[in-house]
Amino acid sequence: MIEIEGLEVVFASHGDRVRAVDGIDLAVEARESFGLVGESGSGKSTVLRALCGLAPVTAGQARIAGLPPPRGHGGGRARAFARRVQMVFQDPFGSLHPRHSVDRVLSEPLLIHRLGDRRERDRRVEAALADVGLDASYRFRYPHQLSGGQRQRVAVARALMLEPSVLLLDEPTSALDASVQAEVLNLLSRLREERGLTFLMVSHDVAVIDHMCDRLAVMQGGRIVEVLDRAALAGGDLREAYSRTLLESSRAHAPAGT
Ligand code: ADP
Ligand code: MG
Repeated sequence: MIEIEGLEVVFASHGDRVRAVDGIDLAVEARESFGLVGESGSGKSTVLRALCGLAPVTAGQARIAGLPPPRGHGGGRARAFARRVQMVFQDPFGSLHPRHSVDRVLSEPLLIHRLGDRRERDRRVEAALADVGLDASYRFRYPHQLSGGQRQRVAVARALMLEPSVLLLDEPTSALDASVQAEVLNLLSRLREERGLTFLMVSHDVAVIDHMCDRLAVMQGGRIVEVLDRAALAGGDLREAYSRTLLESSRAHAPAGT
């Protein structure tokens, strides 16, 4: 479902060149939940951004469901991509427009993709809210009237409006309190199961990835240093000293209830 070969992302900023992703290979199966972990600045977000056309691919290639990263927002290729792949970001305050109601946030993808008439859109917005555990009273609220966890539920509902196959999740619960974090992670697990979704999820927290993912890759300095499955993680069977340090430091701050 996700194929990455020799992916490189080099940013040019102020005359400097930053090699954010330095030649990575990765293959994620359909319905798999795959994690990317690594310290801050190791290139995790840039991998997700490159996959959906938000960061420049300077070498190598990437495809999701056979589709290369789209260029720009408007075109037919970008729309086809959006039907299959959606991204969920860390900060739901930043990703939800402050003056758009929940109703507008959730109807917009349907309007843009010309899906359904008014009644069908209403039905799908209400169903989407219910799917993320919010009752119909949330429909006409605004982001500032929601808690962090509720905002992230709305962001997840929005990502699912077009019924994609793949979610790219960038630290989707890092901004939340530990107990709320566990609720949103459990919601994501349930939705993945019910819909047969493929997840590529980034976190700096190995405990989150351990809870959510079948396999994970450890990133350092724009490279993948190790790929592990859950059994290897549980058995502490890590080849790389760097992976062990990451794991030990995040075990010390495991989210409650996961
Ligand atoms: P992570 O998500 O693992 O914390 P990022 O992918 O955000 O890491 O960043 C990887 C590296 O790329 C960092 O050194 C960061 O400063 C740099 N970087 C990210 N985005 C840009 C950009 N738009 N322009 C220049 N450098 C960037
Ligand atoms: Mg990041």
